[in-house]
Amino acid sequence: MNSTTRAPLSPECTETQARDAQHHLHPFTDTKALNAKNARVIERAKGIYIWDSEGNRMIDGMAGLWCVNLGYGRPELAEVAAEQMNQLPYYNTFFQTTTHPAAKLAEQIAALTPGDLNHVFFANSGSEAIDTVIRMVRRYWEVVGKPWRKILISRENAYHGSTLGGVSLGGMGGMHAQGTPMLPGIEHIRQPYWYGEAAEGQSEEEFALECAKALEDRILEVGPDNVAAFVGEPIQGAGGVIVPPPGYWKEIQRICKKYDILLVADEVICGFGRTGQWFGSQTLGIEPDLMSMAKGLSSGYQPISAVAVGDRVANALIEDGGEFNHGFTYSGHPVAAAVALENIRILRDEGIIEKVGADTGPYFQQQLRERVGQHPLVGHIEGTGLVAGMALVKSKEPKAFFGKDQDAGTVCRDHCFSNGLVMRACGNRMVLSPPLIISREQIDEMIDLILVCLDKTEASLKDLDWM
Ligand code: PMP
Repeated sequence: MNSTTRAPLSPECTETQARDAQHHLHPFTDTKALNAKNARVIERAKGIYIWDSEGNRMIDGMAGLWCVNLGYGRPELAEVAAEQMNQLPYYNTFFQTTTHPAAKLAEQIAALTPGDLNHVFFANSGSEAIDTVIRMVRRYWEVVGKPWRKILISRENAYHGSTLGGVSLGGMGGMHAQGTPMLPGIEHIRQPYWYGEAAEGQSEEEFALECAKALEDRILEVGPDNVAAFVGEPIQGAGGVIVPPPGYWKEIQRICKKYDILLVADEVICGFGRTGQWFGSQTLGIEPDLMSMAKGLSSGYQPISAVAVGDRVANALIEDGGEFNHGFTYSGHPVAAAVALENIRILRDEGIIEKVGADTGPYFQQQLRERVGQHPLVGHIEGTGLVAGMALVKSKEPKAFFGKDQDAGTVCRDHCFSNGLVMRACGNRMVLSPPLIISREQIDEMIDLILVCLDKTEASLKDLDWM
């Protein structure tokens, strides 16, 4: 159904919108602006599609918020949740107690993660996993007798969550500007965004080394013996899907080793198949000491996150750390853990991640570059597996970006929403991260829609005199 043939809203829907406007404060939202037009009510979903209360079907090109890796409507997940709720809906893991699903899930994560990430700490969200990382790496250095190693180094335009720890560690200027002050002891270096920030004519390899050198420079500036860890997303997600150029991670890894600094991969988006392997660290060649994960761990069917901890840190904490004074009421929640286990079983038994790696991922990337890359608005496309970002530009040649107040991304996003596609804008970068079960035919359908929406966006931007 398109916008000219809109069905009247049901009374239930109108009531929901009114309640929402009166009482609900949405995350990352200008509530006044939202209430002036009412929230769209999403009512149901199946596979890669979601439906709103007006009957509009949309391809969910974002898998919710990068999380519904299995797609919507898998009854197995609902069934294990119900079974677990009937058996044991909740018990904590504080009182020298555990539960069957929490222990099994820890074992599974240890087996799936690369290297010696053999221990797991549970939380509920990506932000809580990151807060756990911050406390755990600092605690590690206390336990091994170097309590002065406090500084964590992250990157500009990184996203690591919205709790005080997560927002401080992340590198989003707009977030740092609100609710100050941020946490002390955190440093940010430049991001490896080649298309947007490399010098004219600079190769990707040269730029990769220059960006990695920023880490070494900062380590030397603050004193190597004061640095606890470097934290990075294998591929920056909310920053606009920025894939570091070849050689970047290898050099970052070398620098961390040289100065004995812990390396943390924030796998909240990349984990559980997004890049065509179980973890982005495998795709990008990273050997992290710790790994944070959430989202795809349960395909978003339950809130759950985890930090996988390598032997070096875990053994020190276990052998010499005594009690670690950290944790959450719902750490290792049995229902969330049972759902995560079933999610992992399906991802594995149905070969979903292998298919992303060998078939749908490469197809998606190739089709995007061949078909969408031609569009006059699209300056550059990057991504791997089933995650991609494209830069919207005023002009491709010579390269010209939109101005600070020219929010082309939002114009494009709005056209997408009105035309049956959820594609997110991160500034003037459009990002895609569809459910991992998307088929080749559905990829074609999604790309057809992207082209329609880009044409409409181009027309709107010309009307605005931005192009
Ligand atoms: N880290 C990364 C890399 C993320 O992308 C996100 C969320 N998009 C988070 C942490 C925070 O996760 P949450 O919103 O579940 O707190």
